[in-house]
Order: sequence, then C-alpha cells, then structure tokens
Amino acid sequence: MYRVPSFIHIYGKKAITNPNLKEISSYLKSLLPKTIIDVRTDLISNFLEPLDSSKKDEAVDSLAEKLAGIRVLDYSKQKLNPEPMYAEIDYERRKILNPDTKSIGVFYDGFELQNIFYSIIGKDERSFSHIHVVFTNQLIATWEDDDSRYHARSSVYGFPSIISTAGIVEAPAKPREFYLMKQQYGMMGMDDLAIAEFKRKFEGRFIDYNDPHMTEVCKGYAAQALFFHITGEPFCEDKGCRLFNAHWQEELIYSQLESPYEFCKAHTDMLKKIIRNGLTQT
Ligand SMILES: [Zn+2]
Repeated sequence: MYRVPSFIHIYGKKAITNPNLKEISSYLKSLLPKTIIDVRTDLISNFLEPLDSSKKDEAVDSLAEKLAGIRVLDYSKQKLNPEPMYAEIDYERRKILNPDTKSIGVFYDGFELQNIFYSIIGKDERSFSHIHVVFTNQLIATWEDDDSRYHARSSVYGFPSIISTAGIVEAPAKPREFYLMKQQYGMMGMDDLAIAEFKRKFEGRFIDYNDPHMTEVCKGYAAQALFFHITGEPFCEDKGCRLFNAHWQEELIYSQLESPYEFCKAHTDMLKKIIRNGLTQT
C-alpha cells in the first residue's frame, strides 16, 4: 500500500538561496502532478509567525534552549549538551530570529532535531497526507552503534525529512587524493587564494558550498524524502538512480548529475503506478 501525499510542504524560503526551492518544488510536481506543493519560510519562522508577541518570546526561548541542548559536542559520546551555556542558547536565539545567518559549523543530532521540528508542525498537518521537507544550512549528525560515534549526514528522512545543504558538502566523502593533498598542503596555513587553487584541482569531483549543481543534487534528496514517505524506503541499490544512497561525492555526482536516467526501471515503474492509482489516502 503506497501512502501518496495530497500535500508537500517545502521549508527554507529566504533562509536558503541555493538550492532554488522553487525548482525543487516544480521537480516534485513533475513526479506527482496531483499533489499540491508549497514553499514556505523556514519551519521555525513558519511556526512563530502567527503567535502573538508574548507567546512568541516564550517559544523562541524554549526552542533556543532545546536546540542548544542537542548539539553534538563530542563525536565519540552519545551524550549531547543537556546543560547548554548561556552563549550557546543566545546563539540559537539569534539564529531563530535571523534564519539566514551563516552557520558556524555546529553539528546537531539529526533525530533530536527531527523531534523538535515535529513538535512545531501544526497538528492538522501531522498526517500521512502531508510531507514536510525541511532544507537547512545547518550540519546534522546521527549516532551509529556499529562504530560508536556520530557521523555527519546530508539528510534524515522521517516526519519531517531534513535535508542539510552543508551536509551534502561535508557528509559524502571526497576523493581520497583530496584528503592526502589537504594533509600535504597543510590547509590550515593556506590563505583564501591557495585554498581556491587547491579546490580547483578537484573541480567537478565534489559538491562545494554554493555549488551551481546544488539544486540538481537536492532534487534527488527531495525524491528520496518522497519515496521514504510513500514506500518506507528512500534508497535504491542502482548507482544511476536518484535514490542511490551515496557515501562518496563521486557517487553523488554520478547518481544526481551524470547518470543517463532519472530513476532505475523499478522506481520509474513504481512512480507510474503511483500516479496512475492517484491519491490513495491512509
Ligand atoms: Zn531505483
């Protein structure tokens, strides 16, 4: 049984300029023509907007404290930041009020962030007829029991799904030579020009901040969020399918930019079936 949504809400307008969220919205519309799709401001602003000023202040304080509390302070410890410092809470408060502020490399626990986001989605939109896709420029990480540490993530699927543009740059591994050369060059001591020169050597082999291909790549992540919602499985084994779970930048570039097809045969057929059956509510 497929859970086909009647509505998809994309969050990040104003705060996110790359990817182009309107293009992502049109892309999803091309996959599910009968679904109504809107692009909203970032999820927190969307939640705060209708509140009156005293309630809003209260909500900002409470959210700031919660967000500061889910920072990953140490990759090797599952414990987060249960007693955040004032400066950390204040940083979150300022970021809530100015969502387009550049992030400063703080990682948040992706599933905890999902819980906080879930709590501020309107109750009438917490059902399978709605998909919520949150784009953020913040970094997320999830704990892996296998090696007992946090790993950076480009996305976390669920309710809502979160796609991190910084995570797309940082999570899938860059070519091995990149790390070797970075070590050799001693990047820490390089000036901006030298860093640009260094990155140019790897042009086209990884997605960088403000990359012109960011929108195209994000279409694939948005499609994964869609498939997660509809079928429970966001990923595909086929390296040329938009749903391929890339662990390397070069795999990401192949599946999202270079592959001769959008989706593998199985997922193309699945989409046709979903569209043909129309909207089936659960
Ligand atoms: Zn596939």
